[in-house]
Amino acid sequence: MDARQFVNPEQAGYVGFANLPNQVHRKSVKKGFEFTLMVVGESGLGKSTLVNSLFLTDLYPERHIPLASEKITQTVKIDASTVEIEERGVKLRLTVVDTPGFGDSLNSTDCFKPVIRYIDEQFERYLQDESGLNRRHIIDNRVHCCFYFINPSGHGLKPLDVAFMKAVHHKVNIVPVLAKADTLTKLEVQNLKRRIMDQIEDYGIKIYPLPDCDSDEDEDYKEQCRQLKNAVPFAVVGANSIIEVKGRKVRGRMYPWGVVEVENPEHCDFIKLRTMLITHMQDLQEVTQETHYENYRAENLANGGSPAGKASRGAPPSQSDGLSQRERELLQKEDELRKMQEKLARMQAEMDSKRPEVQPNGNIKTHNV
Ligand code: GDP
Repeated sequence: MDARQFVNPEQAGYVGFANLPNQVHRKSVKKGFEFTLMVVGESGLGKSTLVNSLFLTDLYPERHIPLASEKITQTVKIDASTVEIEERGVKLRLTVVDTPGFGDSLNSTDCFKPVIRYIDEQFERYLQDESGLNRRHIIDNRVHCCFYFINPSGHGLKPLDVAFMKAVHHKVNIVPVLAKADTLTKLEVQNLKRRIMDQIEDYGIKIYPLPDCDSDEDEDYKEQCRQLKNAVPFAVVGANSIIEVKGRKVRGRMYPWGVVEVENPEHCDFIKLRTMLITHMQDLQEVTQETHYENYRAENLANGGSPAGKASRGAPPSQSDGLSQRERELLQKEDELRKMQEKLARMQAEMDSKRPEVQPNGNIKTHNV
């Protein structure tokens, strides 16, 4: 593998998303990006540290780390923090959703319910907004990507990992990451990665499929795509301290035997993970819209259209609703038609209410709406 591909191209202090418009789809971006990243995994696996390292911000300035006694009965909390980052005029409104308490309590089987509910609630909100009047200014809070942290000290995926990923893989783009990779040797990382990928396949878990490059892309880009694909699950290291190594200031972890550099592609896949996220932001959004959100809409429809979060509160998933795929598609089409008709009716009503009215005395009056 050619590590030079992933040498951080930017100066220190740059995340790199300023290149997003020309790098990926070469579209100009006026409005900026809205992106929501969720991080899930047992506590202590380095989720907050990694997020802070990724976006060079302290997203959790007032964090409370629970005691073991609190953890026993702890339920999963959902913490969403939003930051606006701007690089060279490109704005990113980034929301990071953390899930403290995941896998902590004695009974872990229920720990992913709040996570699922959160994802569904964002879909529901979007669905409501989309069918409302103010369609142009919808804030997209749907979860576009979920980094799932895998414990490096296990022998692969644990039952909880499998159960969680299977419960959400049709709702969100899962990107598996192997946490704290500095605790493993190079060979151990390779073996564990292979084992995890085998398990993902054996259990039928659908992780985010990194798209194939277009054949007309340049060779460097194709090579980068290949390397990103091969790196899954990304073996990451996070650190909040800056250390001086041979005159260079690096983000890293200092051990008695040396320094692990977070942004050194020889040491871990951090830069690959960040490159994947930045260069695939738009694709992650598209898959969220076209696959996961559409799944939700179809499911919602099959359940007779639910008020916020109904589907997440125990309604059966679409697979068990007894409808065939074709029937579901028909229902979906019908729903779209109905929405269009409603929209037309609303537009008509709006136009009527704005139309100047000729008063009996000949004055023209306009309604304010
Ligand atoms: P979270 O509970 O998953 O958010 O984990 P934290 O980010 O709070 O990290 C828990 C502990 O692990 C802290 O002491 C971190 O300094 C340490 N840590 C975080 N990332 C890494 C890593 O990549 N490698 C190692 N060895 N330790 C890490």
